[in-house]
Amino acid sequence: MSTKYVYNFNEGDMSMRALLGGKGANLAEMTNLGITVPYGFTITTEACTRFYEEDKKLWDDLNKEVTEHIKDLEKENGKTFGSTEDPLLVSVRSGAPISMPGMMDTILNLGLNDDAVIGLAKKTDNERFAYDSYRRFIQMFSDVAMELDKNNFENLLTAKKEAKGVKQDTDLDANDLKELVEEYKEKYKELMGEDFPQEPREQLDLAISAVFRSWGNERAILYRKLNDIDDAMGTAVNVQSMVFGNMGDTSGTGVAFSRNPATGENKLFGEYLINAQGEDVVAGVRTPQEIQTLADKMPEVYQQFFETSEKLEQHYKDMQDMEFTIQDGKLFLLQTRNGKRTAQAAVNVAVDMVHEELITKEEAVLRVNPKDLDGLLHPTFTDESIKSNEPIAKGLAASPGAAVGKIAFSAKEAASRAAEGEAVILVREETSPEDLEGMVSAKGILTARGGMTSHAAVVARGMGKCCVAGAGELHVNEFEHTVRVGDNVYKADDVISIDGSTGAIYAGNLETQPPQLEGAFGEFMGWVDEFRQMKVRTNADTPRDVSQALEFGAEGIGLCRTEHMFFKEDRIFQVRKMILASDLETREAALEKILPMQEDDFYQIYSLMKERPVTVRLLDPPLHEFLPRGDQEIMDLAHELKVEPARVKERIVELQEVNPMLGFRGLRLAVIYPEIARMQARAIIQAAIHCHEDGIKVVPEIMIPLSSDAKELKTVKETVREEIEKVFEEKGKKIDYLLGTMIEIPRAAITADEIAEITDFFSFGTNDLTQMTFGLSRDDAGKFLPKYIEKDILEKDPFQVLDQKGVGFLIETAVEKGRKTNQDLHIGICGEHGGEPNTVKYLYNVGLDYVSCSPFRVPIAKLAAAQASIENPRNK
Ligand code: PEP
Ligand code: MG
Repeated sequence: MSTKYVYNFNEGDMSMRALLGGKGANLAEMTNLGITVPYGFTITTEACTRFYEEDKKLWDDLNKEVTEHIKDLEKENGKTFGSTEDPLLVSVRSGAPISMPGMMDTILNLGLNDDAVIGLAKKTDNERFAYDSYRRFIQMFSDVAMELDKNNFENLLTAKKEAKGVKQDTDLDANDLKELVEEYKEKYKELMGEDFPQEPREQLDLAISAVFRSWGNERAILYRKLNDIDDAMGTAVNVQSMVFGNMGDTSGTGVAFSRNPATGENKLFGEYLINAQGEDVVAGVRTPQEIQTLADKMPEVYQQFFETSEKLEQHYKDMQDMEFTIQDGKLFLLQTRNGKRTAQAAVNVAVDMVHEELITKEEAVLRVNPKDLDGLLHPTFTDESIKSNEPIAKGLAASPGAAVGKIAFSAKEAASRAAEGEAVILVREETSPEDLEGMVSAKGILTARGGMTSHAAVVARGMGKCCVAGAGELHVNEFEHTVRVGDNVYKADDVISIDGSTGAIYAGNLETQPPQLEGAFGEFMGWVDEFRQMKVRTNADTPRDVSQALEFGAEGIGLCRTEHMFFKEDRIFQVRKMILASDLETREAALEKILPMQEDDFYQIYSLMKERPVTVRLLDPPLHEFLPRGDQEIMDLAHELKVEPARVKERIVELQEVNPMLGFRGLRLAVIYPEIARMQARAIIQAAIHCHEDGIKVVPEIMIPLSSDAKELKTVKETVREEIEKVFEEKGKKIDYLLGTMIEIPRAAITADEIAEITDFFSFGTNDLTQMTFGLSRDDAGKFLPKYIEKDILEKDPFQVLDQKGVGFLIETAVEKGRKTNQDLHIGICGEHGGEPNTVKYLYNVGLDYVSCSPFRVPIAKLAAAQASIENPRNK
């Protein structure tokens, strides 16, 4: 039997998402639930794949199948395609298995032509409505199916309103619209070189092809890349009989969420417009009204919508994002899907739904995307700064957070200025899918037009990016690069601050503060901890970072980079002195000065961490990084050291390397200058003994970086041990400690069995391990790596998302070999990848004991780890 490519709504259900797309599967499900949905059919995602195999053409069998389904639709509606009595009109929409907002477009009123419009006018006894529908159809069809610039038509519409001296589209009468239809058709002919297609079936075929083609457009490809959506999935096409929201004052159209998608509040949230068609609400052309006001205007319809919303939530067990149309007082649902939401709403809704006994705690934990938590963990403006600053304007609080930056007037400008390291706010009249890249690069997004469901609002929420939308007092002039608010004019160099949680816009740079993590978030993270089996530590080397990480729930320190302490003002001089010393004695004298400072650093950190594990890494970077560069600085240092500047320069030259990242760094420093490692080991242990005396029984973990060989590591290990034994003797007290190494050179992973025999733990330094596995400098990769991703040579930046095939192979090898010779080997990761959700899940499955990441990513890593446990529990 040949493949079935077309399904009527009553032939599908929500389990068929991959085949029918999200929209199609949900339309089928709603039909089955007995909710009033205009009838229609769905052309499958498999047809989309075939369309590309057929060289972007529709094929005979598909055409025949579509014909059959049109017949069903005609029968169901009692209307005929192209009829001059009562024509069947349809909408054509895309619908991928994963929703891609704003990426693909809709065509309404398809089936209208010069004859059918007469039929529609006759049947509805409303000539104005019929011609309004026709002109909208020509405009949408030209834009979406034929890719003609919609401004060609918008300009004609504006000219017509001006000629009549009216402001609103609704002020144009039937005759005006009739004229406009003629003008539109002429414009179409002028641009396309042929008449506007009059045959409904031809219109439909062109529209179907356009939807399939749009799966392959640049915006769609970029969106998929950003959201990890498989390119091979394809989109379905939904053909649905039209209902009309533009039939007068008892008609309308709207979009609504079953709960507030910005805060999660359990209250219907949305907007609608009376006497309007679908795209009017999202396009921001007229300002929509709040859904609650519908309760006064059409109480019965409101009640029915409210009940439908509850029914859908109970059925899908998730917050719904619904589109509806009211035709002459009758409610129709056009779409439902699980609503996109801010991180704050995601957590609040998940927690509420557990309390409402709609979902389990496990389901709640699986509901929140770890990446999205990022939006919750980011700063807000301080109360103080809000009190002492008057907003210059207010818009809608479209996506929470606080953003500060200079003004960028186009997406392109935002992207290029951000690439130069500038913090920018993208300020636009309104955004469109073309602006996606600029929205990604900007710190925040501000628009002058559009509602809570406008493109800017929906996309920013999806990205977890701060956004204020629809700030009507702003006059954005994209050509002159100015924003005028009242009498004030702001330019590209002016800094503004926007508050996505209140909608306030400020001139200047407002002070931000770290996020407040209480209430539902705390409860949610409690469940995360309940299910999570892998530990999450943090990378921190200052008491400030440590405190922040503890607030976020870090369970230990996985990496304390001691070199960061060396740069502190009060000690860099001694560090330089130590490096420049030409004999052991001078070096040891300098180290002796550094010792008490390091000891105090560690003492402070241990004290904050209480008895949680703290991993301290011995000095890692090449020594030249600590030396001054400029002539004046060199002179100053020589003066302070009481040596000739030439001597300082000489030493700098001596330390220069062609490939410093592959050179004299890591434990190699300790092999050549064991006194440095001795000083650090002493500081680590003395601070720990001090803590024990305070009653804090810390077990320090001493981590040796960059080993590549067991013998090499053994040398350093012995140095460290000897020094520790000396401290024990001097103090007359022994404490427990662990000695381990980082695995960041492929050879270390390959010889992990030998290395494991002489260490207590491994920590994967995946920044270096990635660099060395790819043979790709982590400091220079940014110059060309993005091109690799653009060209699809690499799917992801391997410095952000772990390369499982290559680097992962080495990790798996090291885990397996290491545990073979040392069953008690404790294994973690401290490279940047330790906070990347996909990598965290992968490492859980590889069997790591912990991940360590920057403080802000601790909750993200925890959630990813909990999800991994729920999906694949470990034996205790
Ligand atoms: C690593 O290489 O992954 C690591 C954590 O060390 P650093 O980034 O300090 O080289
Ligand atoms: Mg490293």
